[in-house]
Amino acid sequence: MTRRDRERAAWSLRAVIRVVAREVFGAPMVTRHVPGLSTPLQDVEPIAGVRAAVFARDVATGQVREYAKQARGAGHSWDDIAQGLGLDRVDGPQTRAQRAYLHLAAAHWRCTSCGALVTDRGPFKTAPEANENGHATGCARYAAEITAYRQGNDQ
Ligand SMILES: [Zn+2]
Repeated sequence: MTRRDRERAAWSLRAVIRVVAREVFGAPMVTRHVPGLSTPLQDVEPIAGVRAAVFARDVATGQVREYAKQARGAGHSWDDIAQGLGLDRVDGPQTRAQRAYLHLAAAHWRCTSCGALVTDRGPFKTAPEANENGHATGCARYAAEITAYRQGNDQ
């Protein structure tokens, strides 16, 4: 993602927050003078803006957890999720995969291979049998993970 893409995405998200402030929190529009700008800005009343931004933050936090659970269900590793979370550095004794798990505390997800609800104990042990419980008998994904682990190709 380029810097320009990030700026454009941030503008889009701010616009959505202003819409929520107006339509959900009833914010009136106010005129705000910004030092260095010759024309005043039209914006939402700031307390309603705070409420809308906090709501957006809470929704985004829930979406991070939901997408992480979907990613696990689809077979992505905790290390893949750590990359998505932007956890690039490893500090202390935990791996970044373990930090991603602890960050999200996402313990259950639905396996897209077998359709079962799986309990995920995190990436603290290397054997799949020690980390995931609940796959349906004959789950192809789980069988592949176990085979990969036993062949030493895990990670
Ligand atoms: Zn499964």
